[in-house]
Amino acid sequence: MSIFNNTQLAFANKTDSQLRKAFWMFKLIEQPLLTKLGTSVLNFAVHNNIPFAGNVVKATLFEQFCGGETREESMKVVNQMFKRGVGSIFDYSIEGKEEEATFDAVCKEIKDIVRFSVGNSAIPFIVFKPTAFGRIDIYEAVGKKVELTTSQKEEWQRVVQRFDEVCRLCFENNKKVMIDAEETWMQDAADHLVEDMMEKYNKVEPIVWNTVQMYRTGRLEYMHQNLQRAKEKGYFIGYKIVRGAYMEKERERAAAMNYPDPIQPTKDASDRNYNDGIDFVMANLDKVSGFFGTHNETSTELVMDKMKAKGLENGDNRIYFGQLYGMSDNITFYLADKKYNVAKYLPYGPVKDVVPYLTRRAQENTSVAGQTGRELSLIQKELDRRKGR
Ligand SMILES: Cc1cc2nc3c(=O)[nH]c(=O)nc-3n(C[C@H](O)[C@H](O)[C@H](O)COP(=O)(O)OP(=O)(O)OC[C@H]3O[C@@H](n4cnc5c(N)ncnc54)[C@H](O)[C@@H]3O)c2cc1C
Repeated sequence: MSIFNNTQLAFANKTDSQLRKAFWMFKLIEQPLLTKLGTSVLNFAVHNNIPFAGNVVKATLFEQFCGGETREESMKVVNQMFKRGVGSIFDYSIEGKEEEATFDAVCKEIKDIVRFSVGNSAIPFIVFKPTAFGRIDIYEAVGKKVELTTSQKEEWQRVVQRFDEVCRLCFENNKKVMIDAEETWMQDAADHLVEDMMEKYNKVEPIVWNTVQMYRTGRLEYMHQNLQRAKEKGYFIGYKIVRGAYMEKERERAAAMNYPDPIQPTKDASDRNYNDGIDFVMANLDKVSGFFGTHNETSTELVMDKMKAKGLENGDNRIYFGQLYGMSDNITFYLADKKYNVAKYLPYGPVKDVVPYLTRRAQENTSVAGQTGRELSLIQKELDRRKGR
């Protein structure tokens, strides 16, 4: 039986009515056709200011998966979780806008998050996506090492500048910052940039963390190379280890453009590679810290077992666990109860702007086999437990 089945612990922050609402929402999300239809209608309705659409989203998906419309509004959730030992990672998730003014605005917002969270250990990490600071095409061009035009060079310099401003501010204020990983064709440029940031700001401790997607082939080799570089140049590494979120897109592009699929051939292969990622961190703790971003119970338990075997304390500051707000509370609150370092990504922003994130959450829950069923049975179990109280 799973160690993560204590639903009383998992849902202690949720009222009966919140739980019932979450149950019906996951029930709807479970239906792929309905989710597809519903998300298109939602996107259209919210963007065209159809009356009540915003309110409907706010009372349903938004409440389940987001902290609030502003940082201040989200502090209620932050404090509630922190009381029970769970950190929050503010995720400012405006997706799909590719304009310089937007990149500057997001960069400013991320820096505001840093200033807002200085000295508050309820917010242990800052996070941003590379494509929130620059167009995916510029990353791709830089990654291919082709000759850039003058305007491309200037554009890339602005991306570097945004990365540097955020990482420097985090360094000055002793806040850890992790950079999300995205599509393979932009990731080489992002990796190099993050390595430069690590070299600059991780001399004493890991302030800047990169993300490694273990569903990709060749990532262990990448980590070994980077470790070599870190040893030579004298800096620490922080890695968020995830499986990866863009599988379908990656496979489709590889097939359409006729290059080898960059993703592991099977789920099992991704799982084995994830385990190897855990081993890599555990074997190099003198240089490497790990943040295991996963909803997978087996992976989580494996990290816990390896920590124990190495004689590490549960709260060892080189190991973190992370889940997304609104998902896998059974894992999060179990870990917090046992004093492991654990934090949740907490998206926030105006309802209209986070709709793409929310619809992606709904779609991913439909496509990730088992996740929705697992959430549903946990909520059902807790509702039954409360009824019998
Ligand atoms: C805190 C946090 C931060 C995250 N940050 C990022 C990020 O920066 N970048 C990013 O890409 N993702 C990120 N993710 C998402 C993550 O990559 C996974 O998509 C998601 O967590 C589901 O994987 P899992 O480990 O939780 O569990 P599981 O449900 O066990 O695994 C599902 C995953 O396995 C892989 N998989 C499934 N089927 C196959 C198959 N047939 N062949 C090969 N592989 C397969 C896919 O990666 C799929 O997402 C993050 C997740 C969390 C919780």
